[in-house]
Amino acid sequence: MEHALPDTLPVPWPDSAVEPPEATRAALDRAVALLAGGGLVAIPTETVYGLAAVAVDATAVGRIFTAKGRQAANPLIVHVADTAMARGLAAEWPPMAEQITAHFWPGPMTVVVPRAPSIPDAVTAGGDTVALRCPAHRFIRRLIATLGLPLAAPSANRSLRLSPTTAGHVYESLGARVDLILDGGPCAAGIESTVVDCTGPDPVILRPGPVTAEELGRFLGSPVASVADAAGVARSPGRLRRHYAPRTPLEVVTDAPRRIRQLARAGRRAGWLCLQPEAPVTRSLAATADVVVVPMPAEPRDYATRLYATLHALDRRSLDTIVVDPPPADGAWDAVRDRLDRASAAATETDADEDSGAEAPE
Ligand code: AMP
Ligand code: MG
Repeated sequence: MEHALPDTLPVPWPDSAVEPPEATRAALDRAVALLAGGGLVAIPTETVYGLAAVAVDATAVGRIFTAKGRQAANPLIVHVADTAMARGLAAEWPPMAEQITAHFWPGPMTVVVPRAPSIPDAVTAGGDTVALRCPAHRFIRRLIATLGLPLAAPSANRSLRLSPTTAGHVYESLGARVDLILDGGPCAAGIESTVVDCTGPDPVILRPGPVTAEELGRFLGSPVASVADAAGVARSPGRLRRHYAPRTPLEVVTDAPRRIRQLARAGRRAGWLCLQPEAPVTRSLAATADVVVVPMPAEPRDYATRLYATLHALDRRSLDTIVVDPPPADGAWDAVRDRLDRASAAATETDADEDSGAEAPE
């Protein structure tokens, strides 16, 4: 189980079918057996691929940290099959958590609640709260229900690197560090879940994600606060400034054409995540400078879906720099802006900051 390269098994389940096809059921059985034995299985979810282990098995959870090279201070999200399972993992189930999960589950919404004693310290980084989510992906809910146990599952990539949105990304990043990869196709949301702290008098967004502050506020009937960067790191351990980064240095710049020309003059080749592919300046630049122009969607959800896959693809092209047009200031773009901020921090922070424990020896 340790060093062989993992199998990748497709797990199709057509919407029209109540039960999964036979091959998918066989993959499910294999995943259940591996997880029950303390193994690591990469799973498709609607956000990004997860690296799953049984959340109440401290040894298996330890393997997640080793496989990712993840800092012990960075807590994991626990995935459940339904709200009943979530309640069993909470010392207290605040009415706010009930209200939010009744509406947004299954889906890309994580609630932070007081932790039950059954959750190992490693999962919560020693804290007294636990982050819980019920994923939309039908196959994963079936997997958790069949197992009868919750799954701790951070993104299935080496720490601080880009999150995977395809099974191929997982294989490239983790290889033999994972026991099995389940292939559910490309992820629909493409970025990590929204994390909401439900332990205080009012909900607070700790990490922006596919469910926006505006959407949550509209549902709850009052505006929802989002923690600013510094406070967010304190409230949500593991929210590192540098995160989600491609290997190629990434810059968010207001005048991308100017920056790309400057790079070209220095003999450096850029990729460009471009929000105005039809603009004349874009066309003339594409014709004159050595640049890979990637037209990005003007709608924030579509942009998020494509973001990591685009960065993974550019990372393979041996470019010197990835230049990114700033996303609009609108709140609907909060999650995309957050991921781009963190990806660009990689290029500006020092090596000492970058590698603080994240590439821990295995
Ligand atoms: P991921 O790396 O996508 O699995 O998400 C894990 C992130 O969720 C952590 O880095 C934290 O930001 C957040 N998180 C997990 N558990 C907690 C918790 N108990 N309290 C606050 N934030 C948490
Ligand atoms: Mg991650």
